[in-house]
Amino acid sequence: MDSVKERGLFYPPDPSSRGSCFIGGNIAENSGGPKAVKYGVVKDYVLNLEVVLPNGEVIWTGANVLKNSTGYNLTQLMVGSEGTLGIVTKIVLKLLPLPKYDLLMLVPFKSLEKASEAVSAIFRAGFTPSGLELVEIDALKIVSAMVDSHAVPVTDDIEAHLIIEVDGNNMDVLMQDMEQIAELTAQFEGGEVFFADDAQQKAELWKLRRRVAEAVKTSGYTIEEDTVVPRAELPKLIRGVKELGKQYGFHAVCYGHAGDGNLHIRINHPTIKNSHGSPEMTAALRALFQLVKSLGGTVSGEHGVGLIQKPYMDIVFRNANLELMRSIKRAFDPNNILNAGKIFDLA
Ligand SMILES: Cc1cc2nc3c(=O)[nH]c(=O)nc-3n(C[C@H](O)[C@H](O)[C@H](O)COP(=O)(O)OP(=O)(O)OC[C@H]3O[C@@H](n4cnc5c(N)ncnc54)[C@H](O)[C@@H]3O)c2cc1C
Repeated sequence: MDSVKERGLFYPPDPSSRGSCFIGGNIAENSGGPKAVKYGVVKDYVLNLEVVLPNGEVIWTGANVLKNSTGYNLTQLMVGSEGTLGIVTKIVLKLLPLPKYDLLMLVPFKSLEKASEAVSAIFRAGFTPSGLELVEIDALKIVSAMVDSHAVPVTDDIEAHLIIEVDGNNMDVLMQDMEQIAELTAQFEGGEVFFADDAQQKAELWKLRRRVAEAVKTSGYTIEEDTVVPRAELPKLIRGVKELGKQYGFHAVCYGHAGDGNLHIRINHPTIKNSHGSPEMTAALRALFQLVKSLGGTVSGEHGVGLIQKPYMDIVFRNANLELMRSIKRAFDPNNILNAGKIFDLA
């Protein structure tokens, strides 16, 4: 990302794990990040891939072109396949011109639900922010303490913040957009807006947002879900999560890429620290994913299925879907040597 930036170019997928992840893993998980709301996810930038198949053969999946109607789209089949079909060894990516300016603001809300209602209202009003993240106050308190930051004052009457970024090439338009978005948030009981004035303040806010996952995990929120729903359904998802917490005896914090409807839900249960082998937590998560499905969403927005979400695939897929996926896996990898047992079992 940084090296293309130096040439005035832009590769938008920007997962919060960018300090540790690799591009092969990003392809395998079809990763997103804060800029996905305007610019899309990894799949939107991959044009062509060199792949080593499980039988050792090396193929290119497509062509280095912007459109392609030639046969099945093996490039997009590889993206998000979680290392189960082949090993990606070369990648041809599309790049964009780097936008000249960006503006960032932080809006506090007295109600988490109201903050989530404001999210879809921003789009309905005709704005497309380049970042629209939600952070519940408990998560912000934890991460602020962990990185010893006082950038955001945390008061008892605030339940959540929205971090809103716009970008483009015309500063006047961006300023106007920010002002109008700020006015709109006031209709949802948004409080006094904090505009990040310079690069340092922007970096501080993004640092807080990027380190939330690590901070809440180390403070006891050990079970992480990566739910995604149509963004207008976020308030119902949040209400449902809190109700499930009361029912199953856990505390949950919510944060994530609200502009995409992608809510990370971190669960802190007094005794159950891992969903594996816990019938109680499995029941709670099944109820959560059933709620997500009923809202038109699905189990994972950007982290993938792997081993952890595998037991819940039957909630979002019919057997016919799973059988098709198994057939694809068998066609690529008849000996089941690549990431066996991830996403689904073959038997
Ligand atoms: C703190 C934190 C924040 C995160 N934030 C985000 C975020 O904002 N957005 C987001 O989308 N995700 C996020 N993630 C999830 C994760 O970082 C991403 O899914 C990332 O893309 C994984 O890349 P990795 O290099 O770490 O892959 P790994 O975890 O090493 O591997 C992931 C999978 O990809 C397979 N794989 C790796 N390389 C290849 C290859 N060359 N060919 C085929 N398969 C391969 C592996 O076998 C494995 O199954 C976050 C994770 C953490 C820990």
